[in-house]
Amino acid sequence: MSKTWYPVIDITKCIECGICADFCSHGVYEKRENHPVVVNPEECVHGCKGCSKQCPEGAIEYVGDNGQENGGCSCGCCCEN
Ligand code: SF4
Ligand code: SF4
Repeated sequence: MSKTWYPVIDITKCIECGICADFCSHGVYEKRENHPVVVNPEECVHGCKGCSKQCPEGAIEYVGDNGQENGGCSCGCCCEN
């Protein structure tokens, strides 16, 4: 867990489908009328890009992503697909 890695949603791209919030099993997101809000960034797993892989609009980027991360993480609970 790291505060140096967490998702940021581009609201100009987001269609409020709620997939990211439903996908993350770490409680990072809260859905407010399907609009995903990052309420617990400290719970995001460093290097995980699980939710961005699910996003149909490519609306999720990560604070701390320098392009070196491979998108995998060690928790094994949400990044496999
Ligand atoms: S990157 Fe992984 S841990 Fe972080 S919010 Fe997305 S699915 Fe959850
Ligand atoms: S998956 Fe993408 S489009 Fe859907 S709510 Fe999340 S950020 Fe928005």
